Amino acid sequence: MMNETYLEIRKTLIEKRDELTARLENITGGRSADSQEQAQELENSEVVDALGNEARIEISQIARALERIKNGSFGICVNCAKEIPIARLKAHPFANLCIRCATVAEQLNR
Ligand SMILES: [Zn+2]
Repeated sequence: MMNETYLEIRKTLIEKRDELTARLENITGGRSADSQEQAQELENSEVVDALGNEARIEISQIARALERIKNGSFGICVNCAKEIPIARLKAHPFANLCIRCATVAEQLNR
């Protein structure tokens, strides 16, 4: 199933992925070997790693969402196989649970 809303979400996801990929390159790339800058870079490396990991996690979430759009399982709750409301998908494009199942899962994780 591929309706306009999914195409719209797909476009948003791809844009977001490109943006994150560019940001990741900015974070990880361009590290200078200049010794004067190295101390400062070491100090920042933890922050850089955290930012980099965050971006990487989000990129992989986006990749999975795009994969689900491609294979037609996007918008279907992985738990109960019901359709996830479009409004929820727009707000949370990575959601793979319907609101009911997500609420239950949240309570179980508590
Ligand atoms: Zn569900």
